[in-house]
Amino acid sequence: MITSYSRQTLIDWFHRTSGVNGQPTPDEVKTTCPLCGGDVLYFNVRKQVGVCHSAGCEWHDKVFLHELIEVFGFAPSQHGEWEDAPEHLQKEVTLPGYPVLFRDSNRELMTNSEPSLEYLRGRGIDDLVTLNWGLTCDGERIFVPIFDMDGSLRNYNSRLLPGFQGKKYLYCVGAKTSHYILGWGECRDWEDLALVENTFVSLAYRGRMHCATTFGSNVSELQADLIAESGIKRVAILWDENAEAGADRALKKFDERGVRAAYWKIRGQPDDYPIDWVAEKCAEIKQAADSGKKWIDYRKLSQAP
Ligand SMILES: [Zn+2]
Repeated sequence: MITSYSRQTLIDWFHRTSGVNGQPTPDEVKTTCPLCGGDVLYFNVRKQVGVCHSAGCEWHDKVFLHELIEVFGFAPSQHGEWEDAPEHLQKEVTLPGYPVLFRDSNRELMTNSEPSLEYLRGRGIDDLVTLNWGLTCDGERIFVPIFDMDGSLRNYNSRLLPGFQGKKYLYCVGAKTSHYILGWGECRDWEDLALVENTFVSLAYRGRMHCATTFGSNVSELQADLIAESGIKRVAILWDENAEAGADRALKKFDERGVRAAYWKIRGQPDDYPIDWVAEKCAEIKQAADSGKKWIDYRKLSQAP
């Protein structure tokens, strides 16, 4: 019986078995050949067949998935976190509300909601970010779209406007937040990445730093894979006070994938501090990541104004 696995499932499986050498392309993963030990086994994750480039290797012409499964001793996960991904990925999400900002026929910037615009500006979010990201509002909440790599809308995060009763932050019901990274279509081409917990903080920093969010103080296996497969070389984790345990777990995931990362320890949360201060510390955290340091403690230095 032939079982077809998704690309992500196979990449995860190689991470757990013979490793992933370099950046996988959409079709191909380069791994270490478990038969000859050469690091030039190219496995096509679409056709689910590979070839080992080592001369003299038995798999020089062709190796099938079932042969790899036999050597590794276990098949790619069928019940893990990955299995529900393809089904979920087909789910289309509609962004509620209407644009906070739009251009009229004279190309003038107009708003549908003064309170929303005022709130976003108050959080340091540039008007052009509000416009270009297509942030919407429905009178009570502001919505931030969360796109898949192919540009399909898969989720949104929303914030209750001041003066209304309800949950402060809400994601789209049924969407899997841990499958995505905010603005991934753009950040996957960056060389470095800063991660904050909050979606709106991320948007406020976007013009100043290469900043995104994994939507909280956790990096899922899938998000770590996305980052490892991108051009990103180092990650600065700028989470809130007391997120050290989560940051340690994230570091472990990045380390397993060959991505350099470090985090900071601060009092409060990043938006308690001036953006210049954050940008400066962010640069230091990236240097720390490069030199193999795990974290820098700014708690003595930092005092929330
Ligand atoms: Zn080989």
